[in-house]
Amino acid sequence: MILPGSTLGLLGGGQLGRMFTSAARTMGYDVIVVDPDPHSPAAHFATEHLCADFHDQFALSQLAKSCAAVTTEFENPPADSLAWLARHIPVRPGANALAIAQDRVREKTFFAENGFPVGPFAIVQSETDIDAAIGAIKFPAILKTARFGYDGKGQARVTSLTAARENFRAWRAVPCVLEQLLPLELEVSVVLARGADGAITSFPVAENQHANGILDMSIAPARISANLANQARDISERLAATLDYVGVLAVEFFLVEDENGKEQLLINEIAPRPHNSGHYSIDACVTSQFEQQVRALCGLPFGATTQHTPAVMVNLLGDVWKNNVLDTAMILQEPNAKLHLYGKREARDGRKMGHYTVLGGDVETAYASAQKIKQRLTQPSDAL
Ligand code: ADP
Ligand code: MG
Repeated sequence: MILPGSTLGLLGGGQLGRMFTSAARTMGYDVIVVDPDPHSPAAHFATEHLCADFHDQFALSQLAKSCAAVTTEFENPPADSLAWLARHIPVRPGANALAIAQDRVREKTFFAENGFPVGPFAIVQSETDIDAAIGAIKFPAILKTARFGYDGKGQARVTSLTAARENFRAWRAVPCVLEQLLPLELEVSVVLARGADGAITSFPVAENQHANGILDMSIAPARISANLANQARDISERLAATLDYVGVLAVEFFLVEDENGKEQLLINEIAPRPHNSGHYSIDACVTSQFEQQVRALCGLPFGATTQHTPAVMVNLLGDVWKNNVLDTAMILQEPNAKLHLYGKREARDGRKMGHYTVLGGDVETAYASAQKIKQRLTQPSDAL
């Protein structure tokens, strides 16, 4: 067990790292953050910020020397840096799980080979793979690059073979997956933590609404039957065990109807870290997903994931900043809303700048008040 008073290392200093760092510091740990951005959101909360590239040998040596263990907050830290660190200190999650989560080809193959439910997909390494997939995959479909996609980036909806080929070519023939566009009833996600001893604990299922490929709102608990929620948690926990995962893992699901009208959960993708859809846990659960990440990293017993209050989380994208300023009063005047800002200096459209979580006696009340705040924020300023 790595006890409070020890120093933890973090590769990546974005908002997820910031919330991890805040949780760790609250519990009495020191945190050293490595991130090349001098204004890294996590650095504000860190004991020390090594403003360096993830390949930087000096920074890596510092982590190995000063930290009891290291974690990451994004799926793409360089594999060789992780391998070097792992020779000196525990790195959680491990390189194998990251390698699967960062590559849609490996990820989908892993789901299918291990019997986890997944929608129709084909691996595309060449244009002939697209031709061969037609039949098994019907249009409309989505072509996704295997690597470096997020928030709907690296994806194109395609309605014909020609369009699929053109997109593949425009992306310089990098490996892709072609997925059938599914009629989604709902999207839900499960955030869980697994310890090195195999202990697993998952948070209540969140229901996710997207806008322009980016998460817009998470409603927790999800408005699905207890049976489906249990299934989602069960599949996620089995997946984490199969991966021999250590740390916090998020599993995104599609809820679809099969040909007999029966509801079915399909895994969309996994994220080897806390997840945007788990932010509600900070304000609505006994233990947050970030505290759980600290506990998993340090080998501590897990905290209760019990949700004490229904909640709706809404992302604050740069779009609602006017002249680089957010009208925070719109959120602060609602007594049941909790404001979280990530300390990013520049507001850009589509950039995640913060979020707010509205708590309520039930999800519908929280949802209505979250919507009201959202409408106020998106109203053109001359209408106010
Ligand atoms: P990202 O890495 O950007 O989160 P996802 O694969 O999760 O990529 O896709 C983003 C969103 O696009 C999903 O949450 C969902 O709303 C939509 N989407 C992705 N794949 C499909 C699909 N096969 N059918 C229907 N909608 C999809
Ligand atoms: Mg996703």
